[in-house]
Amino acid sequence: MSSKFHVTATEKSGEAQLEFAGVIDEDVDFTQIKLPECKVYTFNFAGVKGINSCGIREWVHFSESLPAAAKLVYQNCTQIIIEQINMVAGFFRAGSEVQNFYAPYFCESCDREQKVLITAAAVQGLAAPSVNCPECKAEMEFDAIEEQYFRFLKANA
Ligand SMILES: [Zn+2]
Repeated sequence: MSSKFHVTATEKSGEAQLEFAGVIDEDVDFTQIKLPECKVYTFNFAGVKGINSCGIREWVHFSESLPAAAKLVYQNCTQIIIEQINMVAGFFRAGSEVQNFYAPYFCESCDREQKVLITAAAVQGLAAPSVNCPECKAEMEFDAIEEQYFRFLKANA
């Protein structure tokens, strides 16, 4: 299967960068990731295609196994990852930070759906930042329920 999980892990001056690709399921073994103890762990979820309940459990174990004092930064979270952070207790370790994530938008003028990468800082008071359609430049509608989709930001340190 081309969706096989793959991790690219690099470390530089006590900061680890982990890039994930594919599907996070029961075949994923995070203990294979060999890294020295770091102060910061940045996770790039851009390539994650899916996650199932076994994968969620593996992820929670893995994030809990990292040094308690380390800062965990979640980057390029796809909609699936944001949904897990919102729904699954422990998916997002306390004290972690979501830096940026994909949000669903819809353009009514040209009937176009678009996942837009936005920063957590751009969301003020749980309101979706305004985004213009890349096609027709009209302002797009946020295509989810703001209170639900941005729920994780309340936990964002
Ligand atoms: Zn448009």
